[in-house]
Amino acid sequence: MEDEKNYWGRRLPAREWPNNLKAVAHTMPGMQEVSGQWICQRCQSKLDETNRLPQGAFYCRNCIQMGRVRSDEELYYLMQREFSPADTCRWSGQLNSDQEKIAQKLLDYSRKGKSCLVHAVTGAGKTEMLYPLLTDYFNRGRVVGLASPRIDVCRELYHRLQMAFSVSSCFLYAEGEDYRRSQLIVATIPQLFRFYQAFDLLIVDEVDAFPFDENMQLYVAVDQARKPNTPIHFLTATTTPLLERRMQRGELYRLTLAKRFHKNPLIIPRVFYWSGYQTNGRLSRKFLYHFKRQRETGFPLLIFLPLIQWGETFYLQLLRLYPKLRVAFVSSCSQYRKELVEDFRTGRIEILITTTILERGVTFPKVDVFVLEADHSLYTKSSLVQIAGRVGRSQERPNGLVYFFAQEQTRAIKQAIQEIKQMNKEAGF
Ligand SMILES: [Zn+2]
Repeated sequence: MEDEKNYWGRRLPAREWPNNLKAVAHTMPGMQEVSGQWICQRCQSKLDETNRLPQGAFYCRNCIQMGRVRSDEELYYLMQREFSPADTCRWSGQLNSDQEKIAQKLLDYSRKGKSCLVHAVTGAGKTEMLYPLLTDYFNRGRVVGLASPRIDVCRELYHRLQMAFSVSSCFLYAEGEDYRRSQLIVATIPQLFRFYQAFDLLIVDEVDAFPFDENMQLYVAVDQARKPNTPIHFLTATTTPLLERRMQRGELYRLTLAKRFHKNPLIIPRVFYWSGYQTNGRLSRKFLYHFKRQRETGFPLLIFLPLIQWGETFYLQLLRLYPKLRVAFVSSCSQYRKELVEDFRTGRIEILITTTILERGVTFPKVDVFVLEADHSLYTKSSLVQIAGRVGRSQERPNGLVYFFAQEQTRAIKQAIQEIKQMNKEAGF
């Protein structure tokens, strides 16, 4: 027997809805035909003949990873309910005056049901800025969702919020646990399709991250998951043309925080030109020169490579040259991804080689960053700004090295450097 509580605010295809709760649930058609066009009622995709099953019904391929929606089957759902009011905030830190201002504006806009885009530089402390708002919602028994396209971003957020608030919480992602009734839900974007009008407040972190940059599915997912007329706030360090348009139309209010919390400027990347990370199977001499100099300082080093295969090759070559190096390589395919990141954070590993999975959402105090093959097309302006933003985040070391190694300057490199300089200017540096 499934507990009804765990289905409040959820919407699932018939096959996934427990039999003992079918009588109490509401239903809606999985798809609707609007002037001859079938539309998925969960993700709003338009369907054509390629979406037809042999027996004639349509199914949706776009949101299929969240369970198959069919035109001849219903979606089941239950209304969300509130929690009892309580004192929930455990956080005892302090916001600086700039953070305080944004936090207050977020509260004011949220109370009016208005949505915001918080454009905050990397290292501005945007998670802490949310705490007054979250406290207000949690204390009143409201349900809050935090979502991001990136699982590593979700994981770090979940960890921090669990420490800061005493509320029931869960973390949902593709291979994660089943949902259990919670007041705080941290989830990757697709997981939101399994909720319906469930959230009193939704916050989307790193909204510009691949694969949801400029992807309408993200906006549909968050929109159907929130209660009508409740705020959705988007957080980012680099806006996108789509977000800019939404601000121009007055759908989003812009709140900018151009200063890092320790009030030091962002680090401007330096570009070094080379002929690639290896020639004739040997590591680039230019890289090795800068690598040796960096190692003399003893600061941890994060090295980015665009492709998993290059990362592996590079890792083995570096290890052959320096067998005693405490170095590791982590990618989306790594089995011990979480553990390796933690080892780097605590200093057990001194050099971490990675793909863009660690471009954002992670903080390593005192780190330096080298981006190898920075002119590769996988690096967008936004990912380069984010990568550069890993450096200089702690009060103890507000500076550090951001080196881009490239064969040529790309538009992304140029725009990233321009944007960083622009934000420093806006911050008054
Ligand atoms: Zn769909």
